[in-house]
Amino acid sequence: MGLFSTTEFNSLDELFLHQLKDLYDAENRLTDALPKMAEKASHASLKNAFQNHLQETEKQVERLEMIFQSLGQESERVKCDAMVGLIAEGDDVINAKGDADVLDAALIAAAQRVEHYEMSGYGSARAFAQRLGNTYAAELLQQTLDEESAADEELTGIAERSVNPAAV
Ligand code: FE
Ligand code: FE
Ligand code: ZN
Ligand code: FE
Repeated sequence: MGLFSTTEFNSLDELFLHQLKDLYDAENRLTDALPKMAEKASHASLKNAFQNHLQETEKQVERLEMIFQSLGQESERVKCDAMVGLIAEGDDVINAKGDADVLDAALIAAAQRVEHYEMSGYGSARAFAQRLGNTYAAELLQQTLDEESAADEELTGIAERSVNPAAV
């Protein structure tokens, strides 16, 4: 959303499309950010989790493209200001020096903020799709929501089992 344009929402269809464009921008930004998170991670389990989630994120981008196509719309990005900010916080950790275990704990904290933000975005988008009777989109959005939720839980497990005990 730019400084010189006022967005107007008059139908749930318009709002749904806008939310899809925001998610599409967010996911595209994450395909650039996750490799840097993986590179910075020291624990092998954390490195793997970021690499696996990068592959999922690439599929999530494709799912959004499938939904745009089914709607007869171009795959367009609307700048997701929140993801820009969350990734900036992740970059702070990537550029930080210090103890490897503590830095891993910081990476997880940043990544879980991202996953929770995505979960809320996909939850709203899926609810709009259901309300609009678009079961095709609702199912694809639910698949991604499930992946975000699983990624979040995996990060919790890595933190509790490996990283936080080592960071103490
Ligand atoms: Fe995602
Ligand atoms: Fe946004
Ligand atoms: Zn967003
Ligand atoms: Fe994610």
